[in-house]
Amino acid sequence: MEGVNEKKTALVTGANKGIGFAIARGLGAIGFTVAVGARDTARRDEAVERLRLAGADAFGVALDVTSDDSAAAAAKAVEQQTGRLDVLVNNAGISGPMDGGVQNPSTLDLDVLRTVLDTNVFGVVRVTNAVLPLLRRSDAPRIVNMSSNMGSLALQTGPQLAAYAPSKSLLNSITAQYARELAGTNVLVNAACPGYVATDFTGFASPRTADEGAAIAIRLATLPDDGPRGGFFDDGGVVPW
Ligand code: NAP
Repeated sequence: MEGVNEKKTALVTGANKGIGFAIARGLGAIGFTVAVGARDTARRDEAVERLRLAGADAFGVALDVTSDDSAAAAAKAVEQQTGRLDVLVNNAGISGPMDGGVQNPSTLDLDVLRTVLDTNVFGVVRVTNAVLPLLRRSDAPRIVNMSSNMGSLALQTGPQLAAYAPSKSLLNSITAQYARELAGTNVLVNAACPGYVATDFTGFASPRTADEGAAIAIRLATLPDDGPRGGFFDDGGVVPW
């Protein structure tokens, strides 16, 4: 079709650094055109530059996942740039403040909860719904939601974070809801846990690299047509809900 790139396009949110950047670089290395979703212009431009230097076909897309207008504009920008979208990785996420027991449930400020949910959950719904019409035109659309095993009610790992952990539990639940709605389509939706990874998010307090954390998202972004739907996975396989 005229005006539509032959190469597949992937949009990664929060792709200017950390695991999102590594996902963008990894998808670029296997032949995707990568739309680098990032809210800050300078950080976005710098990431696009670094991705291009690494050999990726990358372009920047202004995207603040907490804004409906920004999500809508980002969907338009991708359509204008490549005419297609094959993969969406909802990676952007925040922990919220963590010091001094501020995320103990008994003293939780609801504004902290709202802020974390707005990015980690509402942001995913916002961006997904903005780009879904474009994604649906792909032969093999894939959506990957970057979750965490801290959101696993079965595992309950990591420190007590009463905004962040439930945000990922809710994200997992929403992932399952999307998979149910899209069951009769070729859109595969799954959630990923990257493991405990050295990024700004964790103060780099882990030997696990961003590339290692990105691997499961890249795998889920490139699933075959008969791949899983509505699951939660890490490098080791299925993560219990
Ligand atoms: P990071 O280095 O802090 O990167 C987070 C990214 O999200 C940044 O690009 C940030 O952009 C972006 N972001 C935050 N709010 C945004 C918004 N409103 N709009 C657009 N972008 C926004 O964190 P990370 O470790 O790579 O984490 C990436 C994802 O993995 C998150 O969803 C996190 O919950 C999940 N995760 C991480 C770990 C880990 O060990 N690191 C473990 C489990 C799950 P700015 O630079 O503009 O702030």
